[in-house]
Amino acid sequence: MNWTDVFSDVTTWARTNSPWVIHFNSGSCNGCDIEILATLTPRYDLERFGVRLEGSPRHADVLICTGAVTRQARESLCRVYEQMPAPKFVVAVGACALSGGVFQGCYNVIGSIDQVIPVDVYIPGCPPRPQAITAGIVDLLTRLREGARAS
Ligand code: SF4
Repeated sequence: MNWTDVFSDVTTWARTNSPWVIHFNSGSCNGCDIEILATLTPRYDLERFGVRLEGSPRHADVLICTGAVTRQARESLCRVYEQMPAPKFVVAVGACALSGGVFQGCYNVIGSIDQVIPVDVYIPGCPPRPQAITAGIVDLLTRLREGARAS
C-alpha cells in the first residue's frame, strides 16, 4: 500500500463518518422538507451517523433534494450542484423528486431531479418517513465504504 492509497482510505473514512449535507427544495409542497428536518432532530437523530447540515454547497458532500424541479428552480439546483466539491452525491427524497409526483405535467414543472442532475439514492414516499430517509442515507454511506474497499 502506497501513500496515495493511505490518503484515499483516510479521506473515505472521514467522509463516510462525517458527511456534510445540504438540503435543496426544487419545488416541494414542504411535506418532504418537514420530514427531513424531523430526521435531523434528536428524536430520529441522523447525527448519530456523523451527518451535519451545512449551509454552503462549497462545504457539502451530499445534496438532499425534495420536490419536482420547477422551471424557476432548475438553474439554482444546477448552480448548487456545480458549486459542491467532488466527489459529491445526490439523494432524491419523495415521490415528486423521483418522478414529478403530483406535479407531473404542470406547465411550470420540468420533472424529476435526475432529469437535471445525477442522482445516487432514491427515497420513495409521499412524504417518506424519517426512518426511510435515515435508511437511504445509511445505504449511501455503506455503498461509499464498500466502493472504497473494492478499489
Ligand atoms: S412527495 Fe408528497 S410530501 Fe413530498 S413534495 Fe411531493 S407531494 Fe409533497
